[in-house]
Amino acid sequence: MRAARLFAAAILAALLLSIPASVSFGDDIAERARKLHFSSIVLDTHDDTTQRFFSKNFDLGKRNPDGHIDIPRMKEGGMNAIFFSIWIDGRTMGPTAIQKALDQIDAVHENVRKNSKDMMFARTAADVRKAHADGKIAALIGVEGGHMIDLGVRYMTLSHFYNDEWADSSTDKPAHNGLTDYGKQIVREMNRQGMMVDISHVSDKTFYDALEVSKAPLIASHSSCRAICSHPRDMTDDMIKALAAKGGVIQINYEKSFIDEAYRQASEKVSGGVVAMFDQLKKQCGEDEECLGKKMNEMEKQATAEGKLPHVTWDRIVDHIDHAVKLAGADHVGLGSDFDGATMPEGMEDCTHLPKITEALMRKGYSDDDIRKILGGNLLRVMEQAEKISHEVQAQ
Ligand SMILES: [Zn+2]
Repeated sequence: MRAARLFAAAILAALLLSIPASVSFGDDIAERARKLHFSSIVLDTHDDTTQRFFSKNFDLGKRNPDGHIDIPRMKEGGMNAIFFSIWIDGRTMGPTAIQKALDQIDAVHENVRKNSKDMMFARTAADVRKAHADGKIAALIGVEGGHMIDLGVRYMTLSHFYNDEWADSSTDKPAHNGLTDYGKQIVREMNRQGMMVDISHVSDKTFYDALEVSKAPLIASHSSCRAICSHPRDMTDDMIKALAAKGGVIQINYEKSFIDEAYRQASEKVSGGVVAMFDQLKKQCGEDEECLGKKMNEMEKQATAEGKLPHVTWDRIVDHIDHAVKLAGADHVGLGSDFDGATMPEGMEDCTHLPKITEALMRKGYSDDDIRKILGGNLLRVMEQAEKISHEVQAQ
């Protein structure tokens, strides 16, 4: 009796194993997810690839052996709209800062021109949709804690790791109690110009001040959820709900120390915090951005190999998307990877892995409509609202 049952079980197992993979339910979802992903506008609001334009070793049009972004890999990952971030060290101020920002803006325009077969510069949500219809990648510009420059810049972060003269940062000692009067004027001016107001990096008080002043919905171009990982760069549940109540969107950042609490705590021990680590590496590299990036990568890899840092896998990103959606609804969440500027979790080594996010959301039961909104639709809606408000303000 027992032997017969074992025998039957063995036959059943053999039968199950012999079923071709194509009839399993899993593969149906994988196929549907691929179709949805590659027919959607997949928009990423924060990529530090701009810094790489200044390296002789980097070519946006070719597949590069390092980094997270280039055109061939964007095509492979179905990423067809990108905000190139303009970033300058928060301690660089005045004319030098403006010159550096202008050089970077030039470099973005130049790289788009060089790759015009595959890429198109976009200033409006309509431009992004047109690029997609033409089978091209839409390139946009966001300024990270910079100055007021309108050369196609579509968002500006109110601060970076350090305070501005008019806005407190989340990673500096408060100096202004949020946004100064001048800072509030800047937000109003951004509304007038149709530039999206980005609250990633700002202190909680600056966020609430900006939310009160801005006529247009705000974006967090690259922030995650503090309820899951208690980094000050992430947003609390209350902030996410308040952002959503005014129509805004949180674009989830993939940086390991922003998405995984165990990793955040361990990396604080290893490096003594982001700012301390940065200052340490600057002694070795000076102003050489490439050297800085390489050194940071090496340090991180070594600490992980030695077991000082825990492993973090890509599905953590999906946990943050899902948390924000449960809090605020699928209309208020999107993607802001921080590719080429952050340490990516395992399984998200570059932008070719993006289709996994779509498939994971589908497996969780998200509707096709909601997934499309998260991939890019929500950000385009906010962009259109910023454009509409700009027209209204300018007509007054
Ligand atoms: Zn940033």
